[in-house]
Amino acid sequence: MRAPDLDGQDADVPIFAADAFRLSDFAADLIGKARRFGRRVLAPRAAQHDRDATFPLENFRDMHGEGLLAICIPKADGGLGADFLTYCLAAAELGRYCGATALSWNMHVCSTLWSGALADDLQMTPAERAAHQRRRHAHYRRIIDDGAIYAQPFSEGGAAAAGVVAFGTEARPVEGGFIVNGKKIFASLSGAADYYGVLCTERAEGEAASRRNTLYLAIPASAAGVSVVGDWDPLGMRGTVSRTLLFKDVFVPADEMLMPHGVYFQAATRWPHMFLTLSPTYMGLAQAAYDFTVAYLRGEVPGTPPVKRRMFPTKQIAVAEMRVSLEQTKALWFQAISEARANPSKEQVLRAYAAQHTVMENANVIAAKAIRTCGGQAMLKSLPLERIYRDSRCGSLMLPWTAEICIDRIGREALYEPGEKDE
Ligand SMILES: Cc1cc2nc3c(=O)[nH]c(=O)nc-3n(C[C@H](O)[C@H](O)[C@H](O)COP(=O)(O)OP(=O)(O)OC[C@H]3O[C@@H](n4cnc5c(N)ncnc54)[C@H](O)[C@@H]3O)c2cc1C
Repeated sequence: MRAPDLDGQDADVPIFAADAFRLSDFAADLIGKARRFGRRVLAPRAAQHDRDATFPLENFRDMHGEGLLAICIPKADGGLGADFLTYCLAAAELGRYCGATALSWNMHVCSTLWSGALADDLQMTPAERAAHQRRRHAHYRRIIDDGAIYAQPFSEGGAAAAGVVAFGTEARPVEGGFIVNGKKIFASLSGAADYYGVLCTERAEGEAASRRNTLYLAIPASAAGVSVVGDWDPLGMRGTVSRTLLFKDVFVPADEMLMPHGVYFQAATRWPHMFLTLSPTYMGLAQAAYDFTVAYLRGEVPGTPPVKRRMFPTKQIAVAEMRVSLEQTKALWFQAISEARANPSKEQVLRAYAAQHTVMENANVIAAKAIRTCGGQAMLKSLPLERIYRDSRCGSLMLPWTAEICIDRIGREALYEPGEKDE
C-alpha cells in the first residue's frame, strides 16, 4: 500500500507507476506532485466541504501556490506545460483524495488545455492564430499572476450539451464585443469562479442559430447582468457547488474569446478526446475505493479499531474481483488517453467512448462493492468510503459523454459508416 516518497514522506503508491506505464520524468514528477498535494492538502478538507456542500476555495488558493492552476498553460506563456496525458494522470491522483476538487479543477484546467495545446492542433489563419495567442496570453496571466479561477458552464438542460443542437445561450455581436443572454445549469464553481468559460451561439440579427457558430467566451463573474441562482443540495460531488447561472444582456469584450470564431466546433469534431477530461476524477475515485478496502480489511484505516478481516475467503475473492475491474479500467483508460490527438481514427474514437463508459460505470461498481465487502462500519460518514460511493455515482450522468450516450454512439458508429443509411 505504502511506498517511500521522493521527499522522504510516506505516500500512496502512484495509480500509474512511471516505469510500468513508460512515463517521462517530467510527467512522473508532475503527477507525483499532484498525488502528494492531494494526500496532504485535499484529503483532510474533503469531508467538511462534502457535508456542507461548500466550494473548497482554499484548495484552489493552495493549487495556485503550487502552480497547479497553470498545469496546462504552455511553458512559453509561463505555465507548467503539461500535455493531455500528463494532465489526466495528475487529475486522477487528485480525484483519489477529493472528487469535488478534482472535478472542479478539471473545469478550470480545460479552459487552458482547450485554448492551449488543443487549439494549437486546429486550423486557423495566421491572423486568427496571432489574435488567439495574444488573447489567451492575457487569460493565462490572470491565472498565473492572480490565481484567477475559470469555470466551464456548458449545460442548459436541453439537447445542446450533448452536441445535438445549437446552444440556447446566445452572443449577439456588437461594437467591441458581444451581448450575451441565456442560462446555464449545473455550473460547477458557481459563485467561486472569477470567469465563466461559457459556450454560446454567436448569432447576428436575423441569422439562424447554428452549432458551427458556437463561441467559447470567458464571462467575468463580476460583469453586470451575471447572477447565480438556485440551491445546491445533491447526492454527490457536493463541493462542486454547481448552481444555475443567468446572463441578462451581459456585455462581453471581444478579447474574452477563448477560441476564435468557429474553432470550438472544429475542436468538438476533430479533437473528440477533449470530452474525456471529465473521466480522470472518477479513475481516481475507483482507485480510492479499492485502496480503502485493502486498508480496511488489513485493519489499517485510521479511526477504526485495528481489527483484521482479511482472512475470510469471501473478502479475498471480493478484493480480487475489485482488482480485476480496476486493472481493466486502468488499462483501457490509459490506452484511450494516450491516443488523444487531432483527427483520431474511428477505432480510437470508439475506444475513447468505451473508456469513458468503463471508468464512469466501474468507479461506482467498485465503490458499491467496497461498501458491501467492508461492511456497516465502513459506510459511516466519519470515513471517506461513503463519500467516494456517492461521488462516483455522478460520473455516468455527465454530458456530453454520459454512459448512455457512449453506448448509443458505439453501437451506431460501429454499425454505420458516416452517411450510411438502410433504405
Ligand atoms: C456534479 C456535477 C457537476 C457538473 N458540472 C458541470 C459543469 O461544470 N458544467 C456543465 O456544463 N455541466 C456540468 N454538469 C452537468 C452535466 O453534464 C449534465 O448536463 C447534467 O447532469 C444535466 O443532466 P440532465 O439530466 O439535465 O440531462 P438530460 O439532457 O436531461 O439527459 C438525461 C439523460 O438522458 C440521456 N441523454 C441525453 N441526451 C441524449 C442523447 N442525445 N442521446 C442519448 N441519450 C441522451 C443521458 O444519458 C442523460 O444522462 C455537472 C453535473 C454533475 C452531476
